[in-house]
Amino acid sequence: MAGCIFCKIESGEIKAKIVYEDETVIAFEDINPKAPVHILIIPREHIERVSDIDKDGGVTGKLIFVATRLARERGIESSGYRLIINCNKDAGQEVPHLHLHLMGGRKFTWPPG
Ligand code: 5GP
Ligand code: ZN
Repeated sequence: MAGCIFCKIESGEIKAKIVYEDETVIAFEDINPKAPVHILIIPREHIERVSDIDKDGGVTGKLIFVATRLARERGIESSGYRLIINCNKDAGQEVPHLHLHLMGGRKFTWPPG
């Protein structure tokens, strides 16, 4: 998708610290981390928002699976972590390419702000 930052990361046009990739998803460090562990997991395919996924959930299960394995690798499984998908304006979605935030390494408050 022309002009999409995350498509440009996916194609290698924009550099990112990639921590995982396979044929359907890639994961990379957030450029402006809000926690000691802050990784974004995205589908390679340009899907704008979570409400655009197809009826069986499409690639979202894979995003979650990869996030749980990265959390284990980073040693935050037992302490805990958050998986977050922001959808549209009120939730603060800034990049219109579906992404799952994996955040951990500190304590979070509930409810989120
Ligand atoms: P959103 O608010 O859309 O859920 O989250 C977008 C996230 O993407 C933010 O946490 C932001 O720091 C991150 N981000 C935006 N642009 C870039 C970029 O060019 N590279 C990387 N690695 N992360 C980015
Ligand atoms: Zn995109």
